Amino acid sequence: MKNENIYDVVGIGVGPFNLSLACLTEEMSELKTIFFDNKKEFDWHSGIMPEWSTLQIPFIADLVSFADPKNKFSFLNYLKENNNLYQFFIRESFFILRAEYNHYCKWAAQQLSNVHFSSHVENVHYDQDKQHYVVTVRKNNVEEFSVLAKNIVLGTGTTPITPEFCKNISNEVHSSANYIKHKSEYQHKKSITIVGGGQSGAEIYYDLLSEIDVHQYQLNWVTKAPHFFSMDLGKLTLEYTSPDYTQHFFSLNQDKRDQVIQSQSALYKGIEIGLVNRIYDLLYQKSKTSKIQTRLLPNCVIESVTNQDNQLDLVFKNLDVNQKFKMKSDVLILALGYEYKIPSFLQPLNNIVNWDNKGRIKVNQNYSANDHENIFVQNVGIYSHGFTVPDLGMGCYRNAIIINKIMGKEIYPVEQRIAFQEFKPLPEEIVA
Ligand SMILES: Cc1cc2nc3c(=O)[nH]c(=O)nc-3n(C[C@H](O)[C@H](O)[C@H](O)COP(=O)(O)OP(=O)(O)OC[C@H]3O[C@@H](n4cnc5c(N)ncnc54)[C@H](O)[C@@H]3O)c2cc1C
Repeated sequence: MKNENIYDVVGIGVGPFNLSLACLTEEMSELKTIFFDNKKEFDWHSGIMPEWSTLQIPFIADLVSFADPKNKFSFLNYLKENNNLYQFFIRESFFILRAEYNHYCKWAAQQLSNVHFSSHVENVHYDQDKQHYVVTVRKNNVEEFSVLAKNIVLGTGTTPITPEFCKNISNEVHSSANYIKHKSEYQHKKSITIVGGGQSGAEIYYDLLSEIDVHQYQLNWVTKAPHFFSMDLGKLTLEYTSPDYTQHFFSLNQDKRDQVIQSQSALYKGIEIGLVNRIYDLLYQKSKTSKIQTRLLPNCVIESVTNQDNQLDLVFKNLDVNQKFKMKSDVLILALGYEYKIPSFLQPLNNIVNWDNKGRIKVNQNYSANDHENIFVQNVGIYSHGFTVPDLGMGCYRNAIIINKIMGKEIYPVEQRIAFQEFKPLPEEIVA
């Protein structure tokens, strides 16, 4: 690196994926990096974090281990430095608390001098003369400055899905992402309706069900899915979260990929089976010991919400019988999943970034998104790299590929083949 003002990598957004990139590049003296995030400090989905909630993948999927298990930012080193290794060992669970994971990431972020918070990236454009990206950042909502970058890595994450008809309707339509902040408020209401049958909806339902007899609210849980389905975590299914399957999925044509991803809901959208069973057991227990008011409605899609005299009128359609029905509720909590939104700061690069015929960012196999392969994306492209794109377990794999590409050599070896099963015919066995 000759020019001190030019960064090899500018990371935009610091969630777990770009934090992992920062950790994995921290000791690479030949690479000059800087990362910006608009939050005041690192924070990972703390708005929906009941204290009992755990990660859905084993702790080995930490910020660094799959690329570099000897790295000082490993979860085991975090435990050691926080005098917690023995308790973790005795607890005998691979699944750490989500609050613990958040604390671990904060611990890592605090040790990185090149990660800057309260820094909102407002604009990125390409300077043809200098042949660099110019990243404009607003610090603490006031001061504005720019840095130059050879490569940029977008790690801006995803945002909660809100149907158009729910936007700006009332104060009583809430997102699951802010559940913890409003929980005590909800518990003073007479009726609460949760819409969404995935993990977040299930966690909120379980959490509110735990105290239904104390507060005596009516608690409804509605999902569009034909049943409250659990995530398939069978070990042969988990092989689909492998480098092999990611490469196979990428090798399919776009129509096939779009078709395959539609059929894989149970691989990443369902509820963790242990939680499904705990919900059932709790329902059984509460219904035998007190009079509780709760409804579970599968196969029902929400169609409209209106505010009538400080109560919400919710209209649903039962997809089995194709009939609409209405329900009243004091509060509606939407837990409809998350979606990627193309960041507005990217607009000046619209002609540089590649797009597919559905207007989505076209992601190359090495996670770059332009012909020069120097704009990289994290957590983008379920339609190109498969359902593991948001999976924390694949973060190190993706970062190893990005780092190797930027460095032009192998820094972190990337496993090619780990699955026992085969996802396509062997070339020598193909019949013409
Ligand atoms: C509640 C919840 C639980 C999950 N649990 C698991 C799990 O157990 N296992 C698993 O594998 N996956 C899990 N996931 C999925 C996935 O791991 C998370 O979505 C993860 O947070 C994705 O990380 P990220 O780095 O893409 O982005 P995020 O964590 O969303 O972070 C993006 C960051 O970018 C910042 N940002 C955005 N725009 C700008 C800008 N213009 N300038 C500066 N900063 C900006 C945001 O403020 C944010 O801090 C979970 C997701 C959710 C919502």
